[in-house]
Amino acid sequence: MADQATYTCAHCGATSYNPNDVREGYCGACHRWRDDPLLLADLILAEMSRLDELARIRAAIAILTAKERELTEAHENAARVFME
Ligand SMILES: [Zn+2]
Repeated sequence: MADQATYTCAHCGATSYNPNDVREGYCGACHRWRDDPLLLADLILAEMSRLDELARIRAAIAILTAKERELTEAHENAARVFME
């Protein structure tokens, strides 16, 4: 039974050993089919949400970088005044 066919669901990761599931690409855990267009939509949405998160992180970095520049300039100006 070492080479028993299995079907692993791309959506939830569950693996089925049921020959019917394997043949038809059906997941008994989340009740989705291998070729379910909703499955593809879920994968795309998950990817988009990751990209969205990346965009938020980049925006936060841009804000912090601008703030750091602002504080550095303020510090340099203060030091210049002190030196005069
Ligand atoms: Zn599944």
